[in-house]
Amino acid sequence: MQEPVLVLNANFEPIHVCSTRRAVGLILSGKAGMIMNGRGHIRTITQLLPRPSVIRLETQIHRPRPHVKLTRREIFRRDNYTCQYCGRRDVSLTVDHVMPRHLGGQHTWTNLVTACSPCNHHKGGRRVEEVHMHLMHAPKEPPANAAYIFGRHLQNNGEWEPYISGW
Ligand SMILES: [Zn+2]
Repeated sequence: MQEPVLVLNANFEPIHVCSTRRAVGLILSGKAGMIMNGRGHIRTITQLLPRPSVIRLETQIHRPRPHVKLTRREIFRRDNYTCQYCGRRDVSLTVDHVMPRHLGGQHTWTNLVTACSPCNHHKGGRRVEEVHMHLMHAPKEPPANAAYIFGRHLQNNGEWEPYISGW
């Protein structure tokens, strides 16, 4: 019941991923309709319910423009799991504050990059200029389109692709 379900707004815009349990609750309470089943059925005491993969809210909800959550995992994903200083991927990755925190560096998309442990260790709380290191790309906030936001789910939920592309 924990499998992810894609939630579409009433206008079919993908807005959220929830658990199967939550999705079934939304369907049973009439707040959402099933758009795609494809995962068999759930047997309850009294009935056999289709197991949803994609649902759609009956009423359009208004929400602010989406942003990608600033997390360690999302920083690695934005940087393609590549150290932004040396370009290596086959090493253990860390998150580096480009401008170190003790010098006023912020915890923001533009100040956080993926760094391998050796590079992070070498930089050691100093500024890039001081240690003669260079960033491969200027760090930016990733795009907030649905393909990016929900992209990490596509590997295990390929059937969502048509509902995500174009938003
Ligand atoms: Zn490195």
